[in-house]
Amino acid sequence: MTTIFGKILKGEIPCTKVYEDDLVFAFDDIMPGAPVHVLIIPKVELANLNDVDENHEKWLGRLLLAARKVAEIKGIAKSGYRCVMNNGEDAGQSVFHMHLHVLGGRGLSWPPG
Ligand code: AMP
Repeated sequence: MTTIFGKILKGEIPCTKVYEDDLVFAFDDIMPGAPVHVLIIPKVELANLNDVDENHEKWLGRLLLAARKVAEIKGIAKSGYRCVMNNGEDAGQSVFHMHLHVLGGRGLSWPPG
């Protein structure tokens, strides 16, 4: 796993872990854009949605289930939260290991920039 998130998965770079199961790993974003900003990554090397096919459904489904768990852990399930996945350059993706942002803890404007 060659990206910075791959190194986090291998324990080579420290992070603040929020949640983990057999398929995904979640940790606080180092530059939070909201009071709660957690990243959930699959434990498989995929750059973004352009890399997935039917064989990856279990990781894709688990990312969303984990998002709900993260929201509960962080106490924002009832107040609301946003799940965002940036795919590619125009979306602003900067780390090419697929990740789901979970943002909340304040009112979030829409549409995003
Ligand atoms: P994206 O722009 O969608 O690729 O999101 C990448 C996110 O990773 C950004 O919100 C960064 O703040 C975050 N990030 C980068 N390096 C780290 C790190 N070492 N630990 C936690 N979050 C990170």
